[in-house]
Amino acid sequence: MFDSVLIASRGEIALRILRACRSLNIQTVAAYSEADADLRHVALADRAICVGPAAAARSYLNQKELISAARLMGAGAVHPGYGFLSERADFAQSVEDAGLVFIGPTPASIRLMGDKVSAKQAMLNAGVPCVAGSPGQLSEDIETVKRIAAEVGYPLIVKAAGGGGGRGMRIVRRKEDLAQAVELTREEAARAFGNPALYIERFLENPRHVEIQVMTDSHGNAVWLGERDCSMQRRHQKVIEESPAPGIDRKVLANIGERCVAACRHIGYRGAGTFEFLYENGEFFFIEMNTRIQVEHPVTEWVSGVDLVAEQLRVALGARLSIRQEDLQLRGHAIECRINAEDAWTFTPSPGVVSQWIAPGGPGVRVDSHLYSGYRIPPHYDSLVAKVITYGDTRDQAIARMRVALGETEIQGVANNLGLHRALLCEKGFVAGGFNIHHLETLLAQGFGPVKETDNDL
Ligand code: ADP
Repeated sequence: MFDSVLIASRGEIALRILRACRSLNIQTVAAYSEADADLRHVALADRAICVGPAAAARSYLNQKELISAARLMGAGAVHPGYGFLSERADFAQSVEDAGLVFIGPTPASIRLMGDKVSAKQAMLNAGVPCVAGSPGQLSEDIETVKRIAAEVGYPLIVKAAGGGGGRGMRIVRRKEDLAQAVELTREEAARAFGNPALYIERFLENPRHVEIQVMTDSHGNAVWLGERDCSMQRRHQKVIEESPAPGIDRKVLANIGERCVAACRHIGYRGAGTFEFLYENGEFFFIEMNTRIQVEHPVTEWVSGVDLVAEQLRVALGARLSIRQEDLQLRGHAIECRINAEDAWTFTPSPGVVSQWIAPGGPGVRVDSHLYSGYRIPPHYDSLVAKVITYGDTRDQAIARMRVALGETEIQGVANNLGLHRALLCEKGFVAGGFNIHHLETLLAQGFGPVKETDNDL
């Protein structure tokens, strides 16, 4: 069906996709912006084409340019990575209309799950538990909204149907504040997402963020590959992820995993996907689905033994899943630290030249990164520069290996958050496991901060 893939992304995930293509003898075309000519995957790709200026709107988000680049270079498929156009139904549609394969779900699935109101409705229909909330999108009539809010109960959260990246949400604790919160969120949603539709959910006070990885093919086969605990967050952005989620009953997890698989069948889902849940007091509540590969996929790859990106490519080629649920065994424990080029105290991005990059190694260590010594991090994109992933038979061993790995890692020339990770890997709450999504913010508010040296002996 295709023997060459256009990689319509950048950074570490573009390199990750390139590696998966090569392992399957698939040719690669790197589509890069003017600011990204010196990216590692651009050098390694079979062919490369510049698709526009540094500004993402004119390169990585330029649908027409990407599709004509694919055609010009003879690529038969497009892999969107994560971010950029990966969850845009109109792009998936245009790729298909151009006679190319979109490596991801159908445009209809992306559309259904991209709207959080329709996604929740689909999940309820499929028997997946959701956070209690308004039935469908909110009416324009504030009296109706007030009545629904009273039924849902306070505290509640007003959310944008088209929201993403932790934006378009407002917590309301008192009914007097409802009308203004609705008005503000509606304005913001219209401006930021081009969609003013809102919904209301019960606000959970101290949940954990636990998500389920699924993979399906176009022959009706679907599996779930365990869970990831992504509760270590700052401003709704994940900082550390791990699998399995500490201390959650495997039977409860299996039940949720099976419901996710059933939901995939119900909506005719194809490819890799993630069901995100809040977990509180022993119960799971669906919040949204990501219809793409995620940053934190390596922890699942390590405990499941499945190469998720290669599997995405195989499924797009029309193959059956290489794994069956009954053969899948989740083993050991994996942890991922997201290394960003940002000030570890203020979190301000720190682009510039990386004068020295030394990656860690040894047993149970994986590094997904596009860095090399002398590489200039452009200021135009996300500050994620490396993912350090460690594996152990037990969580304690994975943590011990991560401390060693972080101690070996060196990034000179730009500010980075290695020190924050080194401190977190020795922090009591993290070491105990099972903390909630407010843990890191609470620590930071108490003055918790990065350390410079490795703390292997703690
Ligand atoms: P986004 O698409 O912007 O990531 P999500 O719906 O996934 O939005 O929510 C992002 C984060 O916001 C969650 O991980 C959680 O921290 C918080 N959140 C969302 N909904 C609720 C809720 N009903 N109760 C408590 N926290 C919530």
